Amino acid sequence: MSAFSGPVPKAGIAGIHAYVPGKSGPKTGKVFKLSSNESPLGPSPKALAAYAATAGQALATYPDGQAKILREAIAARYGLKVENIVCGGTGSDELLQLLAHAYLQNGDEAIYTQHGFLVYPIAIATNDALGIVAPEHDFKADVGEILSRVTPNTKMVFLANPNNPTGTYLTFAEVKRLHQGLPSQVLLVLDGAYAEYVIANDYEAGITLVESSTNVVMTRTFSKIYGLAGVRIGWAYCPPAIADVLNRIRGPFNVSAAALAAGAAAMQDVEFIDAAVAHNSKWLPWLSAEISKLGVKVTPSVANFLLMHFETAEKAEAVDTYLTAQNIILRRVTAYGLPQALRLSVGTEEANRAVVAALTEFMK
Ligand SMILES: *Cc1c(COP(=O)(O)O)cnc(C)c1O
Repeated sequence: MSAFSGPVPKAGIAGIHAYVPGKSGPKTGKVFKLSSNESPLGPSPKALAAYAATAGQALATYPDGQAKILREAIAARYGLKVENIVCGGTGSDELLQLLAHAYLQNGDEAIYTQHGFLVYPIAIATNDALGIVAPEHDFKADVGEILSRVTPNTKMVFLANPNNPTGTYLTFAEVKRLHQGLPSQVLLVLDGAYAEYVIANDYEAGITLVESSTNVVMTRTFSKIYGLAGVRIGWAYCPPAIADVLNRIRGPFNVSAAALAAGAAAMQDVEFIDAAVAHNSKWLPWLSAEISKLGVKVTPSVANFLLMHFETAEKAEAVDTYLTAQNIILRRVTAYGLPQALRLSVGTEEANRAVVAALTEFMK
């Protein structure tokens, strides 16, 4: 017995490195926060109005525990079955945690990729399971590397598609090959946090795979293209048996009244989302081209951010320090095994031009 005799958490928890969010920068002056992949366009005005309208009596009463208006808005937009949608009230992070909580325990293994989203190892370790890292090639997930790590103990595979922080994606053909190679008791979680931004023809977030299988779940978020990161809403599209499991273990009122209203309105404002896609499709290639011209290597991205590679970690840090001094906040990605890289979110036109101007000045 150690001298400390307080409550002892599950064994895996001691090994967790708490998630470190993107920096916010100074609270005064004009700040370009390009560190968390938030939408430069903010939320739809309709979502804002719906959110504000909940400020009266709705604050005193419990929200609809079935999240009906939100699930119906999502189902209508994508042609989905309402009963197979489960919403998360602290973003899709909640759903990733719930899935791990439901399907992992001590002795199990769960696979994620080398530069995969850092919520996965946290969710895995929280449930005393073993995280298995599949190498990436050219900063891209590799189906063969994932499948070669499946053992009889494997219970889950987490794949962000597109991935954060690399911005790369697997084609739907590759995702289907991954699914076909997995035993049916392994749950494949397709995290489509950036799916709305992808305009490539060979990409699919996974809806048809969810509908045609019993072991695929797709998670989505309102934090990125919908501009509602502060409200914290996500959703999962699941086979019926998995929706049933999530509905048993989630908090009974896990999505707040304001989140239900804002999310439903945001989902219905198709024009606004189209404008956000158009903004990204214009500025992502522009940033990529301008930064490449400066001799900085950029990983081709289909999301709303870019991964820039410098010669050394010291150089990446120096660039970050230089930009921060000018109130331009990027994301260091050392925790993702990328100490020599920086991640830049696509911003407003003003922010994008400011970044390129500052980088140009630095590289001189
Ligand atoms: C931002 C992000 C999420 C979404 O997080 P929320 O909890 O919904 O805000 C999920 N997965 C990845 C890969 C992300 O980058």
